[in-house]
Amino acid sequence: MIETAHGPLHLPAYFPDATRAVVRSVDSRDLEACGVQGVVVNAFHLSTHPGAGLLKRAGGVHAFMGWHHPAASDSGGFQLMSMIRENPRYGTVSTRGIHFVDADGTRERTLFTPERSIRLQFDLGTDLMICLDDCPSPTASRGEAEASVERTVQWAGRCRAEFDLRLSARTKDTGPRPLLFGVVQGGYDPALRRRCAEEILPLGFDGFGFGGWPLTPAGDLAEEILALTAKLVPDPLPRFALGVGKPEHIVRCYQMGWRIFDTVLPTRDARHQRLYAFDAPRLDQVDVRATGFYHFVYAGDKKHTRQTGPISTACDCPCCRNYSLAYLHHLFDVNDTLAYRLATLHNLRFYTQLLELVSKL
Ligand SMILES: [Zn+2]
Repeated sequence: MIETAHGPLHLPAYFPDATRAVVRSVDSRDLEACGVQGVVVNAFHLSTHPGAGLLKRAGGVHAFMGWHHPAASDSGGFQLMSMIRENPRYGTVSTRGIHFVDADGTRERTLFTPERSIRLQFDLGTDLMICLDDCPSPTASRGEAEASVERTVQWAGRCRAEFDLRLSARTKDTGPRPLLFGVVQGGYDPALRRRCAEEILPLGFDGFGFGGWPLTPAGDLAEEILALTAKLVPDPLPRFALGVGKPEHIVRCYQMGWRIFDTVLPTRDARHQRLYAFDAPRLDQVDVRATGFYHFVYAGDKKHTRQTGPISTACDCPCCRNYSLAYLHHLFDVNDTLAYRLATLHNLRFYTQLLELVSKL
């Protein structure tokens, strides 16, 4: 258990992505109803809309979105670097930081530094902050992966220094201080992963995130590198499996020692009418170690037109407790936005139930 300024965080935990201070289609009360413990917001995206100054004046992201529980913030580096990788005209990366061209049409070049990322995260007032790291492409060469590790280590030191500076400047006692997580990069290369961990561990972070792609280029879970990275982080420091993922991948990663998960899969799938359901009528009959312990229910499928039961009898989400699958099918059919909300509530509850089951392994 981790004590934060916004209440306790019990591990393992699943944090839905509230990139722009909203988990799409649902509000903060809905998240509570699904047993969600924390959310992940994005420092970079919120710095452009609505802007860090506005959020700071609003009392931070918690007050802004009416969320009274823990919130983590991603540095924003991943999005910027993906954008630049897809189109180099959007910017370049140097030791100083990420130089990017504002996509708002002004064509102004902006420098996003480790210091700026930490300052933004303090403006947001999040409980768990993540260092800016250099995330290479999954097809990066050994040389590129090596450069990414060097930059990640250097930026981790600068994030740490800025974090300490901001912490010492705090005048109000607002409860437990925020946590700062480092990120271990190194691509699929064990030696590089080891080097990255050895160099950033002495900086004294509160936990560590998995940097880079948790999947192999073929789309499988990068088991060996995830297991190695988990081992490089000593207990009891919490490990954040950034970007993992599918239910079976979460189970595997938990067994390796990963304890915090964030993935857009349940919310994105919900909007595409793809619902998760355990392969058992009751939750206490689910064995998450068994292959195929869950299946998908496609809400738009014609066969659900007369399905008067819930999506899943093992689920206690607000949708399953109050509505039939036939009703949800109908809402998608007539294209009512309530369909997105109910489907999202169901998939979020599936993930929080999954984590409850995983914690008993
Ligand atoms: Zn449900």
